[in-house]
Amino acid sequence: AHYSTVLAENRKLHNEVQELKGNIRVYCRIRPFLRGQKEKQSVVEYIGENGELIVVNPSKQGKEGHRSFKFNKVYSPAATQAEVYSDIQPLIQSVLDGYNVCIFAYGQTGSGKTYTMTGPDKATEENLGVNYRALNDLFRISQMRGSTFTYEITVQMIEIYNEQVRDLLSSDSSQKKLGIVSASQPNGLVVPEASMHPVNRTSDVLDLMDIGLRNRAKGSTALNERSSRSHSVVTVHVRGMDIKSGSSMRSSLNLVDLAGSERVDRSEVTGDRLKEAQHINKSLSSLGDVISALAQKNAHVPYRNSKLTQLLQTSLGGQAKTLMFVQLNPEVGSYSETMSTLKFAERVSGVELGAARSSK
Ligand code: ADP
Repeated sequence: AHYSTVLAENRKLHNEVQELKGNIRVYCRIRPFLRGQKEKQSVVEYIGENGELIVVNPSKQGKEGHRSFKFNKVYSPAATQAEVYSDIQPLIQSVLDGYNVCIFAYGQTGSGKTYTMTGPDKATEENLGVNYRALNDLFRISQMRGSTFTYEITVQMIEIYNEQVRDLLSSDSSQKKLGIVSASQPNGLVVPEASMHPVNRTSDVLDLMDIGLRNRAKGSTALNERSSRSHSVVTVHVRGMDIKSGSSMRSSLNLVDLAGSERVDRSEVTGDRLKEAQHINKSLSSLGDVISALAQKNAHVPYRNSKLTQLLQTSLGGQAKTLMFVQLNPEVGSYSETMSTLKFAERVSGVELGAARSSK
């Protein structure tokens, strides 16, 4: 009964702000409880059709503690990798039609970002993530198109850690710092100075991903420690040529596994950890600023405030299509992180209720 009142009240507000929505799609995915976990009580109390969800504050009673959100889609913890991918497949296909596409996974560490984008450790074919499925599809569909049209697909994979860019596919294991170049191409593509790798068959995709993941683990004692504090970006460049007419097109697909969004208590960390936290904070808030500036069609879009937004400039602006997976950890103990994740998601989707709109 609570739900219907909460939903009805919020639905009215949602409808009012609906027209503010930009080009970004926001898909919310709730991680299941993990095997062996005792706690089974979820802060997500309701998942509706049409992308609605209600989160309940564990320390408040009744309606007071309920907050409703609405996104383009909400996946229950039971959603499979194949289901999730089938919803975004049209977006992947549009890369071959010349659109720049950017897909993000946002959320606190442990909320399933890497699961969605890459899959679990030792993935089987069934639970491979978006990155593999997208690259395979691009490759497969490009092979099927007309015989006078040919595509070249190349892949780069980088990591941004403390505002420094590292090539994850380089055979040179040195931690060379890379810059970002605005290529003098018609669409002003922005690319890192990282190595480019052609993809000619499905197995190339698997090989490249493996190398990238292995390199991501290097230079750190614990993979999870480091990877949760860096952004990883797989950039797929597509170049199509029509042999008959001589015309050509270029587009790119960026697949981004963002650093964990959890806030770090400033009073508890110092030195390297504090520096990392500040870099993450800055780049995630820059990303939020850029996306909301685009959603509100502001004249000025602050791309230059972080390496991440600089790099993704051409994949976010213009006719680009952007999708964000907002990942939630359902545990009661994560309530406040879950709320801050959902508020970020509202801000980027241009639908913001309750909280004051940022004046930036
Ligand atoms: P993050 O990248 O946000 O830190 P992970 O992707 O590493 O989080 O997920 C944390 C744990 O939860 C991993 O063990 C992962 O395999 C598991 N997990 C996440 N999402 C799912 C899911 N949808 N189904 C099954 N297990 C999941």
